[in-house]
Amino acid sequence: MKPILIGGEWITTSHGVKNINPSDLSDVVDIYAQAGRAETQTAIEAATHAATTWGMSNPQQRHDLLHRVGDEILARREELGALLAREEGKVLPEAIGEVTRAGQIFLFFAAEALRQKGDVLASTRPGVGIEVTREPIGVVGIIAPWNFPIAIPAWKIAPALCYGNTVVFKPAELVPGCAWALADILHRSGLPAGVFNLVIGPGSVVGQAMLDDPRVNAISFTGSQATGARVAKASLPFLRKIQLEMGGKNPLVVLDDADLDVAVHCAVDGSFFSTGQRCTASSRLIVTEGIHDRFVGAVADRLATLRVGHALDKATHIGPVVDAAQLSQDVDYIAIARSQGGLLRFGGEMVRRETDGYFLAPALITETSPDMRINREEVFGPVASVIRVRDYDAALHVANDIEFGLSAGICTTSLKHATDFKRKAQAGMVMVNVPTAGVDHHVPFGGRKASSYGSREQGTYASEFFSVVKTSYTAA
Ligand code: NAD
Repeated sequence: MKPILIGGEWITTSHGVKNINPSDLSDVVDIYAQAGRAETQTAIEAATHAATTWGMSNPQQRHDLLHRVGDEILARREELGALLAREEGKVLPEAIGEVTRAGQIFLFFAAEALRQKGDVLASTRPGVGIEVTREPIGVVGIIAPWNFPIAIPAWKIAPALCYGNTVVFKPAELVPGCAWALADILHRSGLPAGVFNLVIGPGSVVGQAMLDDPRVNAISFTGSQATGARVAKASLPFLRKIQLEMGGKNPLVVLDDADLDVAVHCAVDGSFFSTGQRCTASSRLIVTEGIHDRFVGAVADRLATLRVGHALDKATHIGPVVDAAQLSQDVDYIAIARSQGGLLRFGGEMVRRETDGYFLAPALITETSPDMRINREEVFGPVASVIRVRDYDAALHVANDIEFGLSAGICTTSLKHATDFKRKAQAGMVMVNVPTAGVDHHVPFGGRKASSYGSREQGTYASEFFSVVKTSYTAA
């Protein structure tokens, strides 16, 4: 059984949970010790104790540690990618890509540790100088989802440590393997005891214990809207700093003047790769009349060439759905869409393979309208619906007429429409002729409206959340 990490010690608990491979339900990845409320509180105690010393650590020390972590992740990308593919179901090239991303993020924040800067200003009062500096917040609680088991933890843990905070990390229940591997690398990097702690366990126990504890000074959360709202509500009484990245219902607009190949690539990649289990997936394909039939036909033809199967099989393009609950949600939404008048143009059926796994053929649903549930609620699976619209103005209206605002895309060769869309799309990220999913690691990531709350993640913008500003006045 793989232990949890508290105060620099690996600790085994009385209860372990099996990590099952969604591509092969007979394959147990490993068994992971479960933390309870008491262990979580001990981890918070350890992080609190370590915060003062780590907060005063010098930038070179932080740089060297983060660099060591990034180097090891990159050196082991194939092995860790295989672990990720096995526990989450991303196909191997995508999984290796995600691990690479995690390594790059640690290297980015290693360098940022050496760039911690402030401002020196003249005062409006004679003989007084002003310095504006950034300081650590203290103990940061990190609560992560299952769909990016190593990249999302990396883009929260690396900046937290870079800016001098200590961490209590709670991964999602379905993906303890990558979390454990990352904790092992961090532990061996030479981090002082208590600076990084790993508590594996259910959200309702471990996550809730973090929310309830006033010693947790900030929480960076990624997950569903419902859990995000819970994090916000629990944090308000403590006036705790929070950062919430939540769901999406991302539009991809395809205009008559789009390059058809580009549009098909954006739709297929954005909607179905990573089994559609990306918060930035394009789940609403909003297509103007003149290209609609050609586009739908070409997407269906392309889908017919893709193989769904075991994530570690080289022939596989789309891996399994992550678990039985998510699979039944996907299948339910396909049925709901059909019951409301949608036409299942391609896929949507369970696929049998040599191993017993959660294989679902990518579903393309046409003849849908913006008010249908399939176009208003996040499915989080390989399911995309097509909405036919008259022109660009109607497309923009439909794209924005939703409570979410994470990523929005457009395929067009019109500079006018691309420019207008970049300006008017109500989303944190806008994509022109590139898929809605797929971002760089060195620039801000996040959404608006119900998709996000708080300051941006990633790149230099991460310092907003992971540090606090101090203004000092000194009379000479
Ligand atoms: P989830 O909300 O079920 O779980 C997220 C995390 O919260 C898990 O670690 C879970 O254990 C924990 N949790 C659950 N109950 C809790 C509680 N009471 N207190 C504290 N923590 C608790 O989400 P999920 O199913 O793991 O992830 C899928 C969701 O994540 C989708 O909605 C997706 O859009 C979203 N997501 C968003 C982004 C983004 O950046 N916007 C990125 C990836 C995923």
